[in-house]
Amino acid sequence: MRKTIFVVAVVAALVPSVNAQAATTAATVVSPKRPLNVRAGAAVWTTSLRTLPDGTPIAIECQVQGQLIDQGPVRVTDKWDRLTDGAFVSDAWVRRAQAVPPPCAEAQRQAAPQAAAASTTAGAVGSGTIPLKVRSAPARAAQLLSALADGTALAIACQQHGEPIAGAVRTTDLWDRLTDGTYVSDAYVRRTAEPPACPGSAPAPHAPAAESAQWVSPLPGFTARPGFRTPTNPNHLGVDIMSFVGTPIRAASAGTVVEVVCNIEAGHSCDQPGSASIGGCGWYVKLQHAGGISTLYCHMVRRGAVRPGQRVAAGQVIGYVGSSGNSSAPHLHFEVHVNTPPTSPANAVDPLPFMRAHGAPIG
Ligand SMILES: [Zn+2]
Repeated sequence: MRKTIFVVAVVAALVPSVNAQAATTAATVVSPKRPLNVRAGAAVWTTSLRTLPDGTPIAIECQVQGQLIDQGPVRVTDKWDRLTDGAFVSDAWVRRAQAVPPPCAEAQRQAAPQAAAASTTAGAVGSGTIPLKVRSAPARAAQLLSALADGTALAIACQQHGEPIAGAVRTTDLWDRLTDGTYVSDAYVRRTAEPPACPGSAPAPHAPAAESAQWVSPLPGFTARPGFRTPTNPNHLGVDIMSFVGTPIRAASAGTVVEVVCNIEAGHSCDQPGSASIGGCGWYVKLQHAGGISTLYCHMVRRGAVRPGQRVAAGQVIGYVGSSGNSSAPHLHFEVHVNTPPTSPANAVDPLPFMRAHGAPIG
């Protein structure tokens, strides 16, 4: 570890450029079954920006700590590699001939003196009673470095896209990179000016969700297997999207919250994981959209993060993945109904072709 830091310091001293191109680590994608997702942040619930096929050579700038990945072919790790354009891949899918890349926070702290001289955007923490977490990458799974109290002044170097956060100031997937190379979610930052985009940072794959007929995946980055009214399960009125407990569930389109309900067999609680032998869809939220369309989101980990009657925008967080009710593993059961209200088994449609036709394929 000491050795790595020493090497970084030497490189930073020799190369005056802030983006020390020479300091990258060469590596290769190992992903034989399907292309590797390149993401906006260090977690699978951040947006996939593009994919890289097996064998693609990559140049790693540095590493951050993020979501633990135990499904990769190379190693079990919570390290994510930041590429030269600011996007991330899990190190679990990467083979390196050279040494371990340097930690990003350390590499950037070395380069910071020159970078800080450039103009910064002033801001202040607007997080209320809970301190704002400072992280190594633009995602909640990234390493927690420190926490800042409400009102703390911030010097923002630039912004880049990462995990979407619904915060006290705004709902956004933008994260503010501070002058020491660390990140805070812009959802908790008060400011009067727009910080510039970070040089070389990954662009957003699509414009922010607008209050319109736009549709978005309820669980971006996760895929659903076909499962609507299968021969073996003809009463399954939606599709199941496997995920992790606590992953934000998003409104598939703008609409009004019509139900926030615990639906479970008597004698059981929605506030603990259910099982295959318990009936009910657990904590669920139902939304009513324009055009007589309803969507339903089941098995949330706790009561939905919205109230009946509340208007929600496409992409707004309405709850979090869990396994409440008739469920044996954390997932989102997602239903689409047409010609509503009311919803009934008869007006449920297969969500996969519906979402594909609305420009928001699931996965
Ligand atoms: Zn289901």
